[in-house]
Amino acid sequence: MVTVQQAEEIVLVEARSYGVEHIPFQSAIGRVLAAPLQADRDLPPYDRVTMDGIAINHAAFEKGVTKFKIKGTQAAGEKPINITSPEECVEIMTGAALPETTDTIIRYEDVTIENGFATVNVTTIKKGQNIHRKGTDRKANDIILNAGNLIDASAIGIAASMGQTTVPVERLPKIAILSTGNELVDPSETPNEYQIRRSNVYAIHAILQEYKVDAAILHIPDDVFEIEKTLSKCLSAFDAIILSGGISMGKFDHLPQVLEQLQVQNLFYKVQQRPGKPFWFGKHKNDCLVFAFPGNPVSTFMCMFRYFVPWLRKSIGLEATCIKWAELDSDITFEPKLQYFLQVKLRYTNDAKLVATPITGNGSGDYANLADADAFMELPAEISNFKKGNIYPVWPYKAI
Ligand code: AMP
Ligand code: MG
Repeated sequence: MVTVQQAEEIVLVEARSYGVEHIPFQSAIGRVLAAPLQADRDLPPYDRVTMDGIAINHAAFEKGVTKFKIKGTQAAGEKPINITSPEECVEIMTGAALPETTDTIIRYEDVTIENGFATVNVTTIKKGQNIHRKGTDRKANDIILNAGNLIDASAIGIAASMGQTTVPVERLPKIAILSTGNELVDPSETPNEYQIRRSNVYAIHAILQEYKVDAAILHIPDDVFEIEKTLSKCLSAFDAIILSGGISMGKFDHLPQVLEQLQVQNLFYKVQQRPGKPFWFGKHKNDCLVFAFPGNPVSTFMCMFRYFVPWLRKSIGLEATCIKWAELDSDITFEPKLQYFLQVKLRYTNDAKLVATPITGNGSGDYANLADADAFMELPAEISNFKKGNIYPVWPYKAI
């Protein structure tokens, strides 16, 4: 049996890059950028007018000119209209490129337009006002977003603006999720009195969707021959297999035996934790990793967030864990020498402190309790009495 920390280390050592692929920028949301996103030209690319109004030469205003003859009207996207005398101005719109012969924009609210002339109604005008100067945000070739960042909506907008219609992203590992158990029926079926619908695989699939992984879902009955047949196919077709159930001490828990027969080297079996103690982890000779989680829904769910997601994150170039810390808001006793993953509800206090309220539920089979809690609080194995006010790591599975 290994500790939680040892299990985590062994799992994370097996994280590796699955390469890079180029995909259309519109479908890149949630993927990890594999090369820096650079400015293709200065930002803004020209002196950009930021107010609808008139463009003038400030020197003329300084000399006392307040009535300017309108030379023309320039919309955004049009070639700049240059003035030929300081007593002229150009009616100009937001987004237009500033004509070289002008240097200041006065907004419509501060002028009166009449008979081809614009009269300025204000006394103070700052030279250069209402202009967003070329290259003041970024210079051509500057990095706007570094490799290793998650692509969000702002990055999609930036890629579009750079004309980067395809973006390089970290390739996702190919993942299969397998449920085991003769008692399990499909969610679309009506179980008999002794059966249940298989839910773990769908919860796992949903967890992976957040990372844009579209995992394959399969089911195997508790039959050595069937397990062997399906697993041997999966071991050559996928980068990682997530199994749920069939890993404990039961008479029909055939997985440890079959996995070893199929030359999946066991890297650890059993972790000093509750829930999820019978977690089995191994690696096939062709590098396919096997995460075999105990079938109790809360065990599988916790193990996904504590082990699989960090492995996936590291493999796609993200920080493995985005651990948070919270303060326990009541006393808890847990005697066994196991790391206890307590289900908690999280809230921020008005002094920005994250506080965790225990929502214990009825153990690892009580998946309904997951709806009431937000996170697992990881309580160290060597302590039995956890006091209100103590701070421990939390693994959230809901947005907080
Ligand atoms: P096992 O690890 O196979 O001994 O299963 C432990 C418990 O989890 C049993 O009550 C199973 O019926 C249940 N279980 C196993 N797999 C699933 C699944 N995919 N969805 C829901 N419950 C499951
Ligand atoms: Mg089973």
